[in-house]
Amino acid sequence: MAVQKLSIAIVGAGIGGMTAAATLRQIGVDVRVYEQAPRFARIGAGIQMMPNSMKVLWRIGVEEKVIHTSFKPYSHLNREWDTGKIMRELPMPESLFGAPYLCMHRADLHEALAAAVPREIIHLDKKLVGLEQTADQVTLAFADGTRALADAVIGADGVHSVVRELIIGPDEPIHKGRIAYRAIFPSALLNGGKQAPPGARQNFDIGSSRTKWWGPDRHIVIYYTNATRTELYFVTSVPEAAEWVTRESWSAKGDVKELRNAYEGFHPDVRAVLEACPDCHKWAILEREPLPRWSDGRVALLGDACHPMTPYMAQGGATAIEDAAILARCIEKVDGADIEGAFQQYEAHRKPRTSRIQAISSANTWMKGGDEDTSWLYGYDAWNVPLTPMEPFVKTF
Ligand SMILES: Cc1cc2nc3c(=O)[nH]c(=O)nc-3n(C[C@H](O)[C@H](O)[C@H](O)COP(=O)(O)OP(=O)(O)OC[C@H]3O[C@@H](n4cnc5c(N)ncnc54)[C@H](O)[C@@H]3O)c2cc1C
Repeated sequence: MAVQKLSIAIVGAGIGGMTAAATLRQIGVDVRVYEQAPRFARIGAGIQMMPNSMKVLWRIGVEEKVIHTSFKPYSHLNREWDTGKIMRELPMPESLFGAPYLCMHRADLHEALAAAVPREIIHLDKKLVGLEQTADQVTLAFADGTRALADAVIGADGVHSVVRELIIGPDEPIHKGRIAYRAIFPSALLNGGKQAPPGARQNFDIGSSRTKWWGPDRHIVIYYTNATRTELYFVTSVPEAAEWVTRESWSAKGDVKELRNAYEGFHPDVRAVLEACPDCHKWAILEREPLPRWSDGRVALLGDACHPMTPYMAQGGATAIEDAAILARCIEKVDGADIEGAFQQYEAHRKPRTSRIQAISSANTWMKGGDEDTSWLYGYDAWNVPLTPMEPFVKTF
């Protein structure tokens, strides 16, 4: 079958699903996206887009939609939690890895991705509950009793993926007893009316970099989410005594007083940000060991559905975006004919890289100090890298 006659159903209209919709449409596939949510909500969170994902976004016309409104950090800045001493700084000019490094509101990224495909291919309020495969087609069953047919299915349905459960089997994501507090709020609050903590500078801003403050058993990452620097964001990782997991965690509220207590003793700049923060959300940090396989016949997984990771390297969304480019290239290469072969090639190329990123992200050592090479991560170009299988990743740490 020629690519132009191939129909692919994507389950999940998140970052990976929307990117895949755009990359697959670019090669001529007839794409439909099925999303369980009744509408797209503006989730209050920032997101960092590294050069490796920006290269993909450029080709599908998304970079131009976000580049002028996003914050362009001068560098990745890593500092000690109390003294503020610089542990490692990596300036990130566009020339270094051939693409910009941007920080933005997650909803702005999602809006730009959604605008890259026609609205009528996105079907909201469609919660997938079942899949049935025959030799040449897949039937999707939804919670509202409706069904749809496609030549192939991509499960881009996130960390709690139903598609993964249907094709690989049930298992629970790993929760290592850590949570992420996060908040996004007007930068004006930094100096506006709130009592500054002892030692905090007056009229300070958070600087021109994306800064990660490394404590002994916790950290906090702080950055602006827009070019005008009127909005700032932070995300943390802290131990949580009780087992705290929720399935729909993007909307779960946190207690800002507990959050401030958790960062007692941190540098005055961090304290000032936390004092200014009006409220916060919390998210259980979930991960998963690399899966034994990513596809079954005409159904394949993408993004968090197959390689969920801790947010510590800011690569979960980025790797989902890379997946979408490689998947389209593999399908184009077989001209839509051997879809199962294309899925296997996609996995053989992608899994070693995502497994490596999952492992480093889990260890939370990325750029903590030293001068280890970063070009394998940020220099990766999903449009031009050879599609050969990568060396399997073997964890040695
Ligand atoms: C606190 C935090 C900070 C992060 N920061 C960054 C960062 O800075 N940079 C970065 O690259 N990544 C970051 N990530 C990771 C990133 O958010 C995820 O890796 C990314 O969202 C994964 O995209 P996805 O499309 O696979 O899944 P998602 O974006 O989760 O999308 C899955 C979609 O599938 C839908 N769905 C689920 N089940 C069904 C069903 N049965 N039927 C139909 N639809 C369904 C969901 O409603 C959702 O819309 C962060 C994550 C966290 C938690």
